[in-house]
Amino acid sequence: MARVRECGYYDIIVIGCGIVGAAIARDLSRYALKIAVIDKSSDLPSGASRANSSMLHGGFDDEPGLLKAKLCAKGNRMYRPLSEELDFKIRDCGSFVCAKGAEEEKHIEKLYEQGKANGVIGLEIVSGDKLREKEPNAAPDITAALWCSSGAIVNNFEATLAFIDNACQNGASLFTETEVTGLLFDDAGANISGVSTNRGNFRAPIVINAAGTYTDVISRMAGDDSFKIYPTRGEYFIFDRSAGNLVTSFLFSCPSALGKGITVARTADDNLLIGPTSVRQTDREDTGTTIPGLDEAFEGAKRLVPRIPRNMSITTFAGVRANIDIGDFCIKAADKPRGFVNVAGIKSPGFTSAPAIAEYVAEIIKDSFGGIVKLEKNPTFNPERKHIPRFSELSNEERAELARKDPKWGQIVCRCESVTEAQVVEAVRRGARTVMGVKMWVRPGMGRCQGGFCSPMVVEILARELGLSPLEITRQGGNSKLLTGMTKSPLLPEELS
Ligand SMILES: Cc1cc2nc3c(=O)[nH]c(=O)nc-3n(C[C@H](O)[C@H](O)[C@H](O)COP(=O)(O)OP(=O)(O)OC[C@H]3O[C@@H](n4cnc5c(N)ncnc54)[C@H](O)[C@@H]3O)c2cc1C
Repeated sequence: MARVRECGYYDIIVIGCGIVGAAIARDLSRYALKIAVIDKSSDLPSGASRANSSMLHGGFDDEPGLLKAKLCAKGNRMYRPLSEELDFKIRDCGSFVCAKGAEEEKHIEKLYEQGKANGVIGLEIVSGDKLREKEPNAAPDITAALWCSSGAIVNNFEATLAFIDNACQNGASLFTETEVTGLLFDDAGANISGVSTNRGNFRAPIVINAAGTYTDVISRMAGDDSFKIYPTRGEYFIFDRSAGNLVTSFLFSCPSALGKGITVARTADDNLLIGPTSVRQTDREDTGTTIPGLDEAFEGAKRLVPRIPRNMSITTFAGVRANIDIGDFCIKAADKPRGFVNVAGIKSPGFTSAPAIAEYVAEIIKDSFGGIVKLEKNPTFNPERKHIPRFSELSNEERAELARKDPKWGQIVCRCESVTEAQVVEAVRRGARTVMGVKMWVRPGMGRCQGGFCSPMVVEILARELGLSPLEITRQGGNSKLLTGMTKSPLLPEELS
């Protein structure tokens, strides 16, 4: 029998590098621990952390007493200092939940009371007219709204990358394209001893399951089938920046049993975002958009802002929520096998809650596994990291200064988003391996032409920097190759690679 490859010994393995796994790794990197973060995707973020509304919820949506209510309000408070330490974009815009008529007004009063009980600050119920003073494009039949000044929106790509980037600077190791296929136990089966993957076995006495929509699958590997994940898709439109100023804050419809309802928002990068829908599906990863889904998102958004110009949409996307059948986040250490921790059912407000979830998990490790690992301070822990300079936001003097040092700063690759060759090169140096990976790091392809101009150049730079043939570069890993062969070349494709 072929021997399984051994991929190393760690103190803690985190399965999944969405915002939750990344925040956990970053928080644990404060301690002198050997941490491995394992994700099956080629580029991060993947899963729900790639495709969501990126709203930092105030924390009024969930009933007091629920773990998600507590962690959302706390996570919201943690994000501002974190955005400074870790250099990711955040827009403090505030949010409105909009009511039309007496029935919905009763609902926002309930949310107001819930928010107060959850310790949310900056809540106020305002009239429809007051809402329209701030948001002149809001629908004339909105009669009242719940204003939450602590609502904000982040750049979800930058935030997730910032957490894992800083964790790795502080000693954690990230393994992408590495899929956990099983768990490993000691001989008696009482303790976890690692994970098996497509690359081989990784050993550790503590394994944290932060695998998003797959958390129930991983949990079953540990013998715990106490919850089930119901993947639930949400579809969105993104509009050109010129439509971004239709609103300045985050507008919500009144929530329903299915979720927080359709929203209209200006993103951290000033585009207009509308969506999401909420439709259960069996597939845990299918992020295709559908005509009925998009129509529903558009009609729902028009109820909030009637003037949305559909012809200014530049793209559509969908994300899959890890809805869980127990009604709350499921974050706990298993009694058996010892060393296994579930961080499951992290649906909305999971992005908001992530930094608080990370602290909660560190407490679990301290309380439950003190005998297995010691949480001693990492003497070289540095809480700060810098994002790649955002050329589009620099002054002409700053741009000229960078271009003097490296001419690649003067070479524009993406015209819509003003991204330079130097930014793409730096994204690759920091770990981007695909066109989508580069896009999430520094935004080429996020603008009006959606990559029509820059994709060939991004492919060329990726190939050059990674020492590969352009034919080997993929859109987002796996079989998503972009090129089938060279034109006007006397060589066959196999001779080129
Ligand atoms: C449509 C939508 C809108 C939302 N809006 C908001 C919002 O406005 N505000 C908010 O706070 N929250 C929001 N959320 C929720 C938020 O996005 C999630 O709670 C959060 O992103 C979950 O992060 P995660 O790290 O748990 O999971 P994910 O981001 O899904 O990450 C899980 C990771 O695990 C990896 N993985 C899975 N299986 C394996 C395996 N076997 N081996 C290795 N790796 C594996 C995946 O590749 C993935 O990278 C929204 C979610 C959706 C879908």
